[in-house]
Amino acid sequence: MDGIYLDHNATTPTAPEVLAAMLPYFGECFGNPSSVHAAGRETRGALDEARRSVAELVGASPDEIVFTSGGTESDNLALRGIMSRAATRGRNTLVISAIEHPAVLRAAESLAREGTALVTLPVDIEGVVRPADLKNALAEHAAGLVSIMTANNETGSVQPVAELAAVCRSAGVPFHTDAVQAAGKVELAFAGEGIDLLSVSAHKFYGPKGVGALAVRRGLRLAPTSAGGRQEKGRRAGTENVPALVGMGAAARLALRELSSEPARLEGLKRHLWQAMRERIPGCHLNGTLDRTLPSTLNVSFEGVDGEALILGLDLERIFVSSASACSSGAVEPSHVLTAMGRDFDLARSSVRISLGRGNDLPQMDATLEALVRVVTRIRSMAGAVA
Ligand code: PLP
Repeated sequence: MDGIYLDHNATTPTAPEVLAAMLPYFGECFGNPSSVHAAGRETRGALDEARRSVAELVGASPDEIVFTSGGTESDNLALRGIMSRAATRGRNTLVISAIEHPAVLRAAESLAREGTALVTLPVDIEGVVRPADLKNALAEHAAGLVSIMTANNETGSVQPVAELAAVCRSAGVPFHTDAVQAAGKVELAFAGEGIDLLSVSAHKFYGPKGVGALAVRRGLRLAPTSAGGRQEKGRRAGTENVPALVGMGAAARLALRELSSEPARLEGLKRHLWQAMRERIPGCHLNGTLDRTLPSTLNVSFEGVDGEALILGLDLERIFVSSASACSSGAVEPSHVLTAMGRDFDLARSSVRISLGRGNDLPQMDATLEALVRVVTRIRSMAGAVA
């Protein structure tokens, strides 16, 4: 692509190895994995391999992986699939955080319209949920599920998932985490950290779009959200998207291989860019802290600059960033994540998210800085001319 792509939290390019792994499953390997004959057994074998790879990426066992159509479906399946059973046992409260992705927020709101009691935990100035707040909420409410993301899509803030899971375990409440932004960027330990449900989405780690997974702890009963066949051990009906799932498996293997070096490289680029921004652009504020955010995410507010105008100005320079999550771009409301962190309205509306990935390097960071200096100066001088 002509330009500098800095929007990897929105989506990543499909890796060439992933595309190559998928291609046969659009052609000669077309059997239905539920068929017992050889053509079916061939694709079943490919799905089994993908399941093992995804399980390894998240730290689960293959039989705990339920394939879905992506992060949104995984989140909805976790919330509905657990709450529908929990409610019948008198545990009708769902606990989430204020900074969840719309896939969790909207699913929780729709459950609330149907009678679920919703408790929303605040975050601190760094965008992090305090385990003590969760402990208090669980002491007060008969919760059926807690859902708190592993890393936020807008700021990259990383949550204390192991601690939160431990609080849930001692209260006997299942814990779901949306790890869509964390997968492939930080190590995940589904079993090791005592997590009960975990969502991932392939297109955030160089796999294809429209495919994901929900890890479900062995023994935890999950009600399917659509009626149909017995695929995925009765947890998710519908013929599996074999080519895309094979692609997700390949992407998971690639992500695991790169986990020991790539996040550290991206962290270096991020720190370099932020340091240069602080030196060259007055009035810029980091949303979140460097130490508690994903190595690849930088969210910055620029005083006196409209975030949307900055994105468009950078787009003209062929530098691609975004304002909040891609899903809510175009909305005039300031980000719910930044306001939950205590950012005032103006600073919340003047933020951009820069999210780095495999194709980025140091010269691109320097070119981005120069473009930022130009565009921020231009926007500020235009605002000054109007005022
Ligand atoms: N959860 C988080 C944290 C996300 O960032 C996203 C996508 O932006 C989703 C869920 C939704 O995933 P998908 O696009 O695969 O439906």
